Amino acid sequence: MRKVDHVGIAVKSIDVSLDYYIHTLGLTLLAVEEVASQNVRVAFIDAGNIKLELLEPLGEDGPIAKFIEKRGEGVHHIAFGVTDIRSRMAELREKGVQLLQEEPKPGAGGAEVAFLHPKSSFGVLYELCDKSGKGD
Ligand code: ZN
Repeated sequence: MRKVDHVGIAVKSIDVSLDYYIHTLGLTLLAVEEVASQNVRVAFIDAGNIKLELLEPLGEDGPIAKFIEKRGEGVHHIAFGVTDIRSRMAELREKGVQLLQEEPKPGAGGAEVAFLHPKSSFGVLYELCDKSGKGD
């Protein structure tokens, strides 16, 4: 775990919040896509050394809709770029870290992702993000 790939930020609307990131902060939009496995639309923004991942809920269900309902918009997770995500997950489990799923899930940009339970990580939701299958 040597590098932060992106910071995930929950927003009610990508269309509304993008104006702030692009026009006010002067950052660059990289891509927008839907991630069915998490019931969200995501926008990746280039912030130099890392990316920002805006997460907009699709519908009332799903983790991002629930997050916004409980806590409002804001920082949702921090994602570490990893390779060989299954081995990383197994290592963390051996060290007593609780993961939110048994198997990696398909994430944005063709990545495989898995989340560490905030209870194991002092209140922070961390994501493992493996894009090694994508040559990125
Ligand atoms: Zn993410």
